[in-house]
Amino acid sequence: MKYSKLVDVYEYLEKTSARLKKTDAIAKLLKETDSENLPRIALLLQGRVFPAWDERKIGLASQSMEKIVSIATGFPEKEVGARFKKIGDFGLVVEELAGKKRQKTLFEKSLTVEKVFENLQKLASVEGKGSQERKFKLVSELIVSAKPKEAKYIVRTTVGDLRVGVAQGVVRDAIAKAFLDTKTPEKAKQAVSAVEWAWFLRPDYAEVAKIAKKKGLSGLKRVRLEVGKPYHVLLAEKSPGLKEALESFEHPALEFKYDGARVLIHKKGNKLWFYTRRLENVTKQFPELSDFVRKGVKAKECIIEGEMLGFNKKTGKPMPFQSLSQRIKRKYDIEKMVKEIPIQVNLFDVVYLNGRELFDKPLSERWKLLKKIIRPVKGKFKLAEHIETKELHKADEFYRKSLAASQEGLIVKNMDAKYHPGRRVAGGWLKVKPVMETLDLAIIGATWGTGKRAGWLGSYILGCRDGDKFKNCGMIGTGIKEKEGAGGITLQKLTKMLKPDITEEHGNKVKLKPDVVVEVAYEEIQKSPNYESGYALRFPRVLRIRPDKSISDADTKARIERLYRLQKGKIR
Ligand code: AMP
Repeated sequence: MKYSKLVDVYEYLEKTSARLKKTDAIAKLLKETDSENLPRIALLLQGRVFPAWDERKIGLASQSMEKIVSIATGFPEKEVGARFKKIGDFGLVVEELAGKKRQKTLFEKSLTVEKVFENLQKLASVEGKGSQERKFKLVSELIVSAKPKEAKYIVRTTVGDLRVGVAQGVVRDAIAKAFLDTKTPEKAKQAVSAVEWAWFLRPDYAEVAKIAKKKGLSGLKRVRLEVGKPYHVLLAEKSPGLKEALESFEHPALEFKYDGARVLIHKKGNKLWFYTRRLENVTKQFPELSDFVRKGVKAKECIIEGEMLGFNKKTGKPMPFQSLSQRIKRKYDIEKMVKEIPIQVNLFDVVYLNGRELFDKPLSERWKLLKKIIRPVKGKFKLAEHIETKELHKADEFYRKSLAASQEGLIVKNMDAKYHPGRRVAGGWLKVKPVMETLDLAIIGATWGTGKRAGWLGSYILGCRDGDKFKNCGMIGTGIKEKEGAGGITLQKLTKMLKPDITEEHGNKVKLKPDVVVEVAYEEIQKSPNYESGYALRFPRVLRIRPDKSISDADTKARIERLYRLQKGKIR
């Protein structure tokens, strides 16, 4: 299959913003693709050559791209770098330079999807001496035999930024449209939910598309959990408060909401796999967990879920999620990390046991089974703190206990509920967390956007007052729309307000004179050495722009400190 066929679709998707049109274009391409290329196309459409959960990664940073584009087009690295700085997209840079430099004779053999896919996949396995050069060669070889437009997408796929706006829901709908009966709204709904179900359990559209094409609707519905393969987990919904959560269920269970990372433990005999909720394979990163599971799980085959916490080895106290996330990302010196940041796993569910999928069993039964198969390893591997009550005073006491243990709050679970895999399918779990007061902060820095967001300032740095200085305490990266935002907060509007305040520019980063004040909500305040103020807001979001406030009204570092101390013991 010619790569140019895919590139034509990319080009169309880049220009079209209507979701339905995008879906139709992708569905048409999938239909016209032969079975052998279907998995490749399903991945490439999302700018991938491996499913999200695959350990293999392309592993080429944008710095390397400067070199590669230079090698492939013959333009000096400096010039490539300068152009990149200006337009912020190596894809457009290579398209422009390839167009200028290219001699017609090089187009003789047209690039195939197979070749592009193969070379990009190979990037992940190149190792050892001279690996950098070999990687450069794999990509530049493609660029040299590509037309300028093709080069654009080869490069964008390599840096992991395709910029054609294909959300996962569009691929899902397109697969349904391409291979299933979607003639009536009823049938379409059924088709889409079958594709979605399969994707929850096999989070890889390459595989899902194959099943849809070969086995149709019933094949998709028959997809089952498989030990060793990650799936999309059940998530919790927000509850306005503890009382409301208790009242929502006839048989509620309350558990600590641990401030750690979800871990999915798959066991098949002696073989083990650990995944995060974002489907990262972290088996190698947590060798001690293998020991705990071998000692502590009395089942031949199972998939169990829990929350993993990191501990401070000196104080013996639980550490915030950030510390543990260092271990999740770590690829080397693993044994050192095992000692640096010891872990504790708190188990709360079992979804597969000795050949049986347990999604349809109520939580009461799953919890019973989990208790049966776990032999705790003291302080390291145990069941989550769990009580079953409908009495508010008991629940309240338990809530305080969780906060006092530096945890986030509670998850209130319906003991009668089934397990619904899938990130957007909520049901049965409600989270209860303290609500934090909002902060008024100044925007003291930002970054010029690239691609669709070129010309707009984004990634705002928030600053709190400390004497007559402003110190950063958080960053708003996402969540603000370009032109039509909730409550009138848009990149366009903020850019207009902030532009006159620019005092310094370094590359695409700008420093701003504190002037614009925004009201910010967040989930939690954390101590952080990476921020000048010493504190970082977790998940901050702008609620309002506050033109009525001057910067002398902005909140101080002292108030953040006070709220930080308060949050541990605070209950709504
Ligand atoms: P949130 O990330 O705020 O939507 O809350 C859901 C997350 O809380 C889950 O994905 C788990 O990682 C985490 N969690 C902590 N403790 C528990 C628990 N006892 N039961 C279920 N999830 C928990």
